[in-house]
Amino acid sequence: MSSTPAAVIPVMVPWLGEEEAEAAAEAVRSGWVAQGPRVAAFERAFAEHLGVPHAVAVSSCTTALHLAMIGAGVGPGDEVVVPSLSFVATANAVTYVGAVPVFADVDPATGNLTADTVAAVLTDRTRAVIAVDQGGVPVDLDAIRALAEPRGATVVEDAACGAGSVYRGRPVGAAAAIAAYSFHPRKLLTTGEGGMVTCHDADLAARLRRLREHGMSVSASDRHSASGGAAVVETYDEIGFNHRMTDIQAAVGLVQLGKLPAMVARRRELAERYRSLLGPLAARLVADPAHGTGNYQACWLLLPEGAPDRTEVLARLAAAGVSARRGIMAAHLEAPYKGTARVPLPATELITHRSLILPLFHTLTEEQQDRVVAALREAVG
Ligand SMILES: *Cc1c(COP(=O)(O)O)cnc(C)c1O
Repeated sequence: MSSTPAAVIPVMVPWLGEEEAEAAAEAVRSGWVAQGPRVAAFERAFAEHLGVPHAVAVSSCTTALHLAMIGAGVGPGDEVVVPSLSFVATANAVTYVGAVPVFADVDPATGNLTADTVAAVLTDRTRAVIAVDQGGVPVDLDAIRALAEPRGATVVEDAACGAGSVYRGRPVGAAAAIAAYSFHPRKLLTTGEGGMVTCHDADLAARLRRLREHGMSVSASDRHSASGGAAVVETYDEIGFNHRMTDIQAAVGLVQLGKLPAMVARRRELAERYRSLLGPLAARLVADPAHGTGNYQACWLLLPEGAPDRTEVLARLAAAGVSARRGIMAAHLEAPYKGTARVPLPATELITHRSLILPLFHTLTEEQQDRVVAALREAVG
């Protein structure tokens, strides 16, 4: 080839800068790098952003969901309704506590559970439902709670993708009894790795804080900062975990939280531009539901009728320097959960096989976006 190929357009780039670098460096210089004052400050800021009383920082959304399952009282013999159409961590969190994930189908428009799809798989053993805000699209939590709670099932919100999305006028996750967030770089707000559990109950929050730290009655950071800390002897009253976030991560998270509104605004602007450019190249482009607004964490589209196989489309895009991704995975098609679906999951299978995620990140330029759309036009044929 004679011409220089243009740089590959990635699917996601975290929006990090000097401010985050300086905040991380400051944490390092302070000498306090494990969970400490910056984690506490990040928790307060995140709780305030959501308008919830308690936020507990952890090492990932996966560990947040693990603690949420324990907090919801889920254990061996219980069933937990989850969407198969989700990152596999949603179902795995159920398996970690010895319970059984029961897969429900999703609304083909939003990719989320609905009260109807949950109702189809509820049983007397259903102890919880994990409602996911897939790709940042707010799930209709109230409808699922109205169905599940009278039957004794706790609704946990997997808001891994949802920071910056809005449900009925409040930040996503704020209305849930327990919600879990991810700060992985594929999401908007990132701390490298990291997560948060939020809740409304003070006793539950205190238990989650102990569980993330080996079940300790007094946290290590409280012991160290107490006057005469050496005299404070902690006890270990139940089996906990090391699910802690570091102060270096929290320092980055505090800066990122301040940038969240700008991230959401830019992503929504770029998503609308995709919508106007794509036309019939998408049978459907993910959109806001009636009950809220999304952050376009995953800007996914359903390929039109007659388009080549999705794998072929992705290969053609890659050859044109566009790094798109397959759409959301379906856990019931993966080895650990194969054959376990109790009901047909047609919308899940349609979306997982025929969707792809377009490049979308804060610094994406209109020129790059035009290149993505041109490459898709070629690839779809
Ligand atoms: C990313 C994601 C997770 C896992 O988050 P981590 O922070 O990487 O553990 C869980 N659930 C959903 C829906 C996700 O998208």
